[in-house]
Amino acid sequence: MPPIPKNLCLLGATGSIGQSTLKVLRQHPHRFRLHSVAAGRQWQKLLPIAEEFGVKKFCLWDEDAAQELKKHTRLPVLAGMEGLLELVSDPEAEEIINGLVGAIGCRPTLEAIKLGKRVGLANKESMVMGGTVLREALDANPKASIIPIDSEHSAIFQCLAGRPTAEVEHLELTASGGPFRTWPKDRFASITKKDALKHPTWVMGEKITIDSATLMNKGLEVIEAHFLFDIPFDRIRVTVHPTSIVHSLVQFRDGSLMAQLGCPDMQLPIQYALSFPERWSLNVARLDLREVAKLEFFAPDLEKFPCLGLAYRAGALEGTAPAIVNAANETAVALFLAESLAFNAIPEVIAGVLDKARIQPHPSLAEIIEADAWARDEAKAWAGRIH
Ligand code: MG
Repeated sequence: MPPIPKNLCLLGATGSIGQSTLKVLRQHPHRFRLHSVAAGRQWQKLLPIAEEFGVKKFCLWDEDAAQELKKHTRLPVLAGMEGLLELVSDPEAEEIINGLVGAIGCRPTLEAIKLGKRVGLANKESMVMGGTVLREALDANPKASIIPIDSEHSAIFQCLAGRPTAEVEHLELTASGGPFRTWPKDRFASITKKDALKHPTWVMGEKITIDSATLMNKGLEVIEAHFLFDIPFDRIRVTVHPTSIVHSLVQFRDGSLMAQLGCPDMQLPIQYALSFPERWSLNVARLDLREVAKLEFFAPDLEKFPCLGLAYRAGALEGTAPAIVNAANETAVALFLAESLAFNAIPEVIAGVLDKARIQPHPSLAEIIEADAWARDEAKAWAGRIH
């Protein structure tokens, strides 16, 4: 019997996760129907997607873009956070892929969990900001689940294979090390936007590419792993692995070190979030170990990349600290991309904001969002003083 197709809601349809999700859906037209799509402001790109997949509903983060799209379609067009929440809570949307960029992804994830849905989560900020709140919601809604799409967390999820945390000695997250891994520290002051946007192994959006260059991406992933897998920070290790072939590993207490390997292609973790616990065929490149021949691993250089240490520090502080670091980072990266902040000032801004923050130990989502807003203002003020 062919499977009954499920209705999927795709948040972040025009970004790199969204585009890879569409590729997966094209390979499995009988398993999923694309029910609704959301994007930031690129409304023109949603029209061909809607035509190809028979989408029923749209949402645009940007109000003006939503007004534009309304002129070109008879389908419902929603906007802003209200729109995102309506999309995920639509009873027809059975599963969610959250490929939104940044802090705005958090509330839609929480809403979907409260409604008992499965969320394929590529938006790491959801877990970084709202980790404690999301964990509580997951415990209260046993039908709901989060399947990680971030390649490292998908690898760990696959290696864990449902084993309890008591059997785990440590998680080992691999990091490409970014484009500046081999640069001497004294060149960091002169790093340009163009230099930083050259990622050695993955093609991704601008924000995450800069985060990979500062290693903050790995820092956020450490926090994400802590909340996803309920493993303490001192048992999460980062290892630099420039070719990103080993996507991450789990060290078990019997000495067995399990790894997941593959060519860097986000279609695999996206499909696994949809197919779990099954494995479906997927037309992506296969890894030929004889061609790879050699795998290299190094310890990260925390002096050159202080963002990684800042993320560990925020994780240990708990409460609103991860949300504060995330928001300060988003602000600093946006300023760097606008060419009004130097690359090596990014960690300086984040550290300044974190030092000044009053951390709430057990925050509600509203308090997390408040801390996020405070950190953004504070980061702008810090950056202004550096400039
Ligand atoms: Mg990743």
